[in-house]
Formats: sequence, C-alpha cells, structure tokens
Amino acid sequence: MKIRLVKGGVFPILENKEGEVDSQMLQTGFDVSGTIQGEGKLSGIPSLFIRLAGCNLRCSWKAFDGSLDFCDTPYSSHKLEDFDELDVEEIIAIVKRNLHGIRHIILSGGEPTLQNLGVTKLAQELKKLRLHITMETNGILFFPQLARYIDLFSISPKLRSSEPDKEKISKMDFPIEEVLVDQHKSIRKNLESIQKYINYCHTKDDYYGDHPKAELKRRSDKDFQLKFVISKANEDEEIKQEYLDQLGNWTPEDILLMPLGSSRNFLEKTSHMVAAMAVKNRWQYCPRIHIDLFDNTQYV
Ligand code: SF4
Repeated sequence: MKIRLVKGGVFPILENKEGEVDSQMLQTGFDVSGTIQGEGKLSGIPSLFIRLAGCNLRCSWKAFDGSLDFCDTPYSSHKLEDFDELDVEEIIAIVKRNLHGIRHIILSGGEPTLQNLGVTKLAQELKKLRLHITMETNGILFFPQLARYIDLFSISPKLRSSEPDKEKISKMDFPIEEVLVDQHKSIRKNLESIQKYINYCHTKDDYYGDHPKAELKRRSDKDFQLKFVISKANEDEEIKQEYLDQLGNWTPEDILLMPLGSSRNFLEKTSHMVAAMAVKNRWQYCPRIHIDLFDNTQYV
C-alpha cells in the first residue's frame, strides 16, 4: 500500500540503504530541526518524524499587528509540488535504519487522516516495533481503526483567524484555488470528530458499567491535546464559545495555546500575549522549541 509523503518525509535520516551516512542526506547532530518534538505535552523528546503530503485546509493568518503568516509546512499543503510515494514496508525499513534509540514517532502533515487506510497500516506496523506514536491532526476526520494504534492525538482545531481571504491570498506567493478557500471555511470545525478523539481516550467507569450514571475515566494508554494557534487577543473567547463549551471530558491541562509564528522574530510578537492568555484561563502555554533552537530553518 502506497503512502504519499512530502519529499524526504521521514526525518531525521542518519543512514542510507547501505548503512552509510550519505553526504547528500542530512546528518543529524543536534543542530537541525526535526530532531525533537518541538510542541505539546511531549515537547523536547527525541523523535522521528513522518510527514504526510496533502491537507484539506489552507490555513493563513493575519496577526494582531497586521502581518501575515501561512501554514508553516506549505510544502505539505498549499504548495505541494513534490512528493514521494512509498510502500508501508519501505517506510518501515527507513524507520528501522534511523531509530538509533529513538522511541517516539510523529505522524504529521499535511493531514495524516486523508490517507487513512495507508496510515492505519503504517501505524499498525510501527506499533509492532513498540514505538510511541503521536498523530498530529486538524481533527476534522476521525477513524477508529487508525485511532487504535495512536498513543497521543495532537489535535489542532482551527479558529476563524486561520481562514484564507482575498487580502491574504493576494499576498501569498502561491495560488489557492477558490474551492479550497470555501472548503476551509465550511469544514475547519468538526466538534463531533474532536469529541470522538477525546472519548477514545476514556473508558467507562468499572463500578457503574453501562449505567447512565457511569462516568468516563481517562485511559492510561491514550492521551490527547487540543492545541490552538493564537494570532490575536481575545481568541480565548472563541475557543471557549466555539469549542470548549460544546465539548466534554477535557481538563485544563489538555488545552494548549501556541503562539502564531514560524520564525523567532514572529514568535516574539505573539508569545507574551499568548502566555498571559493561557495563564488567565489556567490552560497551558505551548512553546515552539524547534523555532527557539533552529529559527525557521526548513528541513522537511
Ligand atoms: S491544517 Fe495544518 S498542515 Fe493543513 S494548512 Fe492548516 S496548518 Fe497547514
């Protein structure tokens, strides 16, 4: 079964097929991005990334100071020009060669759930290697068969500020088809799907069983986080009204606010405001460690 990845979509790479470090490939000391998980509950953990190609959204933001920022991986979404199609077995072989003690895999994109069948098979094979799997998703689609193999659902629901509009599009250096602009607006929020992810991380209380009074309790083998990108003040109100008031079974520790910005310069403009917003609501501030360390160096 073939899976579509961005070019060089498994990283960091240390060894080629012959077991040698290929000079054309990236040598991963601790000096390039893609070495650690940079965001969320598991930030700082050495990880191997698998970046899927293609996304059903076209995020673009206007920050509070009027500056624009777009999806930080446009080569997996807006600007998908080049990609690799690999068999699950080929991806697993690359992973095995390049683990070198890494125990954490990040399935990212783009949007991994768009390739549900292939990604399910891939996740199943990765689990056979006893690896911890995080899946980064915009939360629009939920597939229980895939969820079965995922340990941490890193869900990033999109706020109104992510919607592309004429002004943003006119300043992009790559075109977005109008149909995808409309699609972004109509599908970006799917509460039902997000609730399914959350519920998948819970099980019924043993004492009450199927009784209607039964409360859900948290499973020890599944976790989730709702990671919101914040571009301007007062977006916490939208998070509460449009999402949290309508979702159940979350705790404040599951709610992460991440400042908009794919460069240190940009992050400086938003991070203090976002940290204050997180503290005010007793949610978590989510730094972007990879940007602190590597700025906006693109690997894949
Ligand atoms: S959902 Fe994520 S990958 Fe897709 S366009 Fe938005 S930021 Fe980019």
